[in-house]
Amino acid sequence: MYCHHCGKEVQEDMQYCPNCGYPLQNSPYVYHETDAPSFLFALISFFAPLAGLVLYIIWRKDFPQKAKSCMNGMICGIIAEILVTIFLMSYLSQNIMGVIINI
Ligand SMILES: [Zn+2]
Repeated sequence: MYCHHCGKEVQEDMQYCPNCGYPLQNSPYVYHETDAPSFLFALISFFAPLAGLVLYIIWRKDFPQKAKSCMNGMICGIIAEILVTIFLMSYLSQNIMGVIINI
């Protein structure tokens, strides 16, 4: 066969033309992102649980490991937020009680 780009004869099994570097395969090369646990997205999900939920729904089929990272980050984020809320509530209620007692 011949290179579509420069016309030089090339071998059938070659992926790129040795003369000009033009890709020879007819089917367009589709880039498949590899699936792996992602600390970055876990972190994003931690601080933005809603974003983590959306990413989880988008990725659960194609990138299950990444989706799981988002889910873990989201759960940790929600737990952390609940703990912070409980802490703040108890802190505030103690202060309010102190104010009431002082009156
Ligand atoms: Zn070529």
